[in-house]
Amino acid sequence: MVHGGEFRIETPICPACGCSLVRLGISKEEAPTYRYGGEEHLFCCEGCIDVFKTAPEEYLREVSDVVVCPVCLAEKRVEATVGLEHGGEILHFCRCPHCREEFDKNPERFVARLAG
Ligand SMILES: [Zn+2]
Ligand SMILES: [Zn+2]
Ligand SMILES: [Zn+2]
Repeated sequence: MVHGGEFRIETPICPACGCSLVRLGISKEEAPTYRYGGEEHLFCCEGCIDVFKTAPEEYLREVSDVVVCPVCLAEKRVEATVGLEHGGEILHFCRCPHCREEFDKNPERFVARLAG
């Protein structure tokens, strides 16, 4: 998925509440889906699909600049993160230096987890 010209690791975020599905422990296979704008969107619960339907464009816009720290799985606005290149992709970390230290210990595990 390309946002603003840079390649980000795609991680599922509920477009209604902005929660990381990985953080909530919801796999792509078990997440409820709803088709909108020619795309299948993943949600954290059925209730969020109902919320989404009330203002889909607004919520998609809101969530378009939300990224997830690969280590602590916190949802952040992209401008509040530190972007680091990893394997040709940009990973967005929260500002905590500990998250980057942890990442360096086992990058592949965190990348795989983030992808859901
Ligand atoms: Zn949700
Ligand atoms: Zn929900
Ligand atoms: Zn973090």
